[in-house]
Amino acid sequence: MIVVMKKGASQEEIQHMVERVEQLGLKSHVIYGTERTVIAAIGDKRNGYRASLESGPGVDEVVPILAPYKMASSEVKAERSVVRAGSLEVGARRIGIIAGPCSVENESQIIKTAKAVRDAGATGLRGGAFKPRTSPYSFQGLKKQGLKLLAQARNETGLAVVTEVIATEDVGLVAEYADVLQIGARNMQNYRLLEAVGHSDRAVLLKRGPSATIEELLLAAEYVLDAGNPNVMLCERGVRTFENHTRFTLPLATVPYLHHKTHLPVIIDPSHGTGHAYLVPDMAKAAIAAGVDGLIVEVHPNPEEALSDGYQSLTFDQFREMMKICRRVAEAVDREITPHHDIR
Ligand code: PEP
Ligand code: MN
Repeated sequence: MIVVMKKGASQEEIQHMVERVEQLGLKSHVIYGTERTVIAAIGDKRNGYRASLESGPGVDEVVPILAPYKMASSEVKAERSVVRAGSLEVGARRIGIIAGPCSVENESQIIKTAKAVRDAGATGLRGGAFKPRTSPYSFQGLKKQGLKLLAQARNETGLAVVTEVIATEDVGLVAEYADVLQIGARNMQNYRLLEAVGHSDRAVLLKRGPSATIEELLLAAEYVLDAGNPNVMLCERGVRTFENHTRFTLPLATVPYLHHKTHLPVIIDPSHGTGHAYLVPDMAKAAIAAGVDGLIVEVHPNPEEALSDGYQSLTFDQFREMMKICRRVAEAVDREITPHHDIR
């Protein structure tokens, strides 16, 4: 249920209603909007207490939340959420651009890439230190050493670091070095991991599983929100279909659909979504035209020699060209791609 407070309800009235909700055995989450404050009352006993809450001081109305995901739902919060992590801002007018290699490979690779993507206008640096690979014989990432190199790249460029955490026991370590914890597609329904990042104070980039429905993605986000972390970004990275001309099938309708269903910012990954570098710039443009809040793009100094995902990685020149066009599309749809040094 949502307890909608009257315009101008006092802090005492809000606090009183929070206590009432908790007395009823429900979990409370207060959401302060620009117009009004609402208290989400979450628990199994969905309908039992409506009348009793409705008569509380300062309460305007009590309405049920129809979606199975509660805190993620746009029913609870109509205004779009903005996630900020260091130089990265995703949501509202700003489009956040996260770019970098699939995996951190060595010092010169990550530092060179960080500088190149920053100069082209990226606001976040991606790079996997812990890699979830389909084969156990593939490069698994530099792990802690990779995290240290990412932190060095942040020191040298000012870019926020986005990196994947693949195991619950690594959340503390990765959070020491990262600004954003990426939950990979394979782990979207690893509920203990979602709870663990929900307890962290780092922002979370949650990727859609290749065979997960949007509702399952939103329920996965709900785990993170419910554990107390409001800074969740949702990422469409393509789903598995019968089609095989692309690595995955990238449904861009996910962007407006999610904007309809949730207040959380939406990111598109055109690299994993297509699996071919030559398709990435056009899908990035299309995503921006569709209203996306951020992009995550693989870029490598020499894709041919990349230890993972080289075939879908852009060169520095290709990324720079892509950014020029993306800026123009962003402007056409009333959005902006702001270099990190211009972000307050
Ligand atoms: C990645 O970002 O390199 C990655 C492994 O992505 P996904 O989890 O979407 O496959
Ligand atoms: Mn990759």
